[in-house]
Amino acid sequence: MAMKTLVKNCPFCKKVVEQRAYASWGRQPSEQDKWQFGSPLRLCPHCGKLFIDSDRQELAITGPRRQDMAVVGPASLRLALMGIVLGALLLVGKLNVLAYIAFGVALATLVADAALYPTRQKKLAAERVASEKRLSDPGYARALKKAGYDIPERYLKEEESK
Ligand SMILES: [Zn+2]
Repeated sequence: MAMKTLVKNCPFCKKVVEQRAYASWGRQPSEQDKWQFGSPLRLCPHCGKLFIDSDRQELAITGPRRQDMAVVGPASLRLALMGIVLGALLLVGKLNVLAYIAFGVALATLVADAALYPTRQKKLAAERVASEKRLSDPGYARALKKAGYDIPERYLKEEESK
């Protein structure tokens, strides 16, 4: 697992707006690994100007990634696999107690991550609702389209007068 650091600067005042690490799973990091779900329209805390953050995606449009839907995330899966391999090696070396500890850690990692699965899905569902709500504002949807996002036609319509 490769960790990369993403530093984001405000396009206006050039100050650092965000700094975070993201991981790629056993391959070259792709654009998708950088994504976070939320509004791409961001307010710079330093100069107060609005800018578009191209690593933010509206969940209502792009949909979740494979790693967002996994019951056990790729990071936990790798950790568990390492535990199993280590346990097997210890078994071969007749270090049974240590082997069982390694297997136990592997199992606990899987169980702990799977236990958090409903929480992760609930968060995703809440984010999708928030995303739909933001996009229901045609002005907002048009601003994103202008910034290069692929916005479906149904969000771009003028608000019908009731
Ligand atoms: Zn700024």
